[in-house]
Amino acid sequence: MKLYNTLTRRKEEFKPIEQGKVKMYSCGPTVYNYFHIGNARPFIMFDVLRRYFEYRGFEVSFVQNFTDIDDKVIKKANEEGTTYDVIADRYIKEYFTDAQGLGIKKATVHPKATDNIEEILDIVKTLVDKGHAYDVNGDVYFRVHSFKDYGKLSHQPLEDLEAGARIAVGEQKEDPVDFALWKAAKPGEPSWTSPWGEGRPGWHIECSAMARKYLGETIDIHSGGVDLCFPHHENEIAQSEACNGKPFANYWLHNAFLNIDNQKMSKSLGNFFTVRDAAAVYGYDAIRFFMLSAHYRSPLNYSQESLEQAKAALERLNTAFKNLRFLVKNGAEGDMTAAEAETVAKFEAHREKFCTAMDDDMNTADAVAAIFEAVREINSAAAGAGVTKTYAQKALEFMTELCSVLGIGETEEQGGDDAEIEKLIEARQAARKAKDFKEADRIRDELKAQGIILEDTPQGVRWHRA
Ligand code: AMP
Ligand code: ZN
Repeated sequence: MKLYNTLTRRKEEFKPIEQGKVKMYSCGPTVYNYFHIGNARPFIMFDVLRRYFEYRGFEVSFVQNFTDIDDKVIKKANEEGTTYDVIADRYIKEYFTDAQGLGIKKATVHPKATDNIEEILDIVKTLVDKGHAYDVNGDVYFRVHSFKDYGKLSHQPLEDLEAGARIAVGEQKEDPVDFALWKAAKPGEPSWTSPWGEGRPGWHIECSAMARKYLGETIDIHSGGVDLCFPHHENEIAQSEACNGKPFANYWLHNAFLNIDNQKMSKSLGNFFTVRDAAAVYGYDAIRFFMLSAHYRSPLNYSQESLEQAKAALERLNTAFKNLRFLVKNGAEGDMTAAEAETVAKFEAHREKFCTAMDDDMNTADAVAAIFEAVREINSAAAGAGVTKTYAQKALEFMTELCSVLGIGETEEQGGDDAEIEKLIEARQAARKAKDFKEADRIRDELKAQGIILEDTPQGVRWHRA
């Protein structure tokens, strides 16, 4: 598999540190609100990367953190007259609700910054001991000039960074490019005890600490949105490599931004959407499908039109799933027909196309196209009378295999609510058999109210969403 590495600015063949294993770290959300539709992009895309590695037989250790202490979390707590941990715990819960809706698998570990203060202090102490950091009145700063590779990720010479840097009011740095590892406590703020007095960690250090704790000193892949490349990831590299004396991450992956109606999303422009709000309009599954419609390194435009297109395409996919499920139960017994066998024989070529797309720096747009090509053939062989159960079962398994890698479509994993619908349909059939037509009609109306339309066919009852 080839991945575009921001560090080398090239697509490179992925070579794991340890055969058959992948160690991935992805920067997670700052938990002071519901996450927004832009945040959903890295969460979904790197979930797909993790799923693809697993599909290819790798054992994946995936860490995604929660930034549960920072200015925004503290501000929100003050506004509500509560403590930072109440805010963080609330939005961590809400993260999992939305993430589950979006089909994002739980990471192997979801560590919180404040659960790792000891590990953070350990790195800061080492950096001070090695001369890479210094303390001033309870603050500790990283001495950027002491790390000769600074700028290697964002490809910026230190002189350029120097020219643009300023020392903010209240900061006492040796050099404007230096950044905070530890911040002295301000009155009323939560704090932890350190060798430099009460304080709290700077933002960048938590990822260096949690990556090392859960994955080791050198990891395979580090990922996040392109806005994190500088300064966040540049600073993570400086901290980790200066501390451990080893490369931090071998591959750095960055997703491009999601824009809203071709504009940057911002609260001031009034085009800021949480996933919760967007899901209420389009559904979580359409949002995920929409994200996969573009390569993760291309800018992506969120608009009503693009979401409706995604919803319609997903509906086509789901109709194919429903049709096959129906035929698995109600299709003809016996061997596949020659035409069916021919369609099944082509699955391997579709699988190859799908993998070629994914192997090319995770080109999900082409991978989705490969699935739809297969679906068109599957559908045409599954139309008309005499379709066999055997064929339907094979086609269903094949579609499930590919769709599960992307986490789209009504696979068993996703189609939880279908079981309820099937149950009601069976109850209606039983009522009809017992000639209780009033009850049968009541069930039909109940389903109709949920947007489920029934169709009585010679092979049994089919259903679709209105
Ligand atoms: P934050 O909670 O702001 O630290 O962001 C969590 C993740 O979302 C990071 O990987 C960011 O780079 C990413 N992110 C934030 N805004 C956008 C956006 N508009 N498009 C894509 N990714 C974004
Ligand atoms: Zn990070």
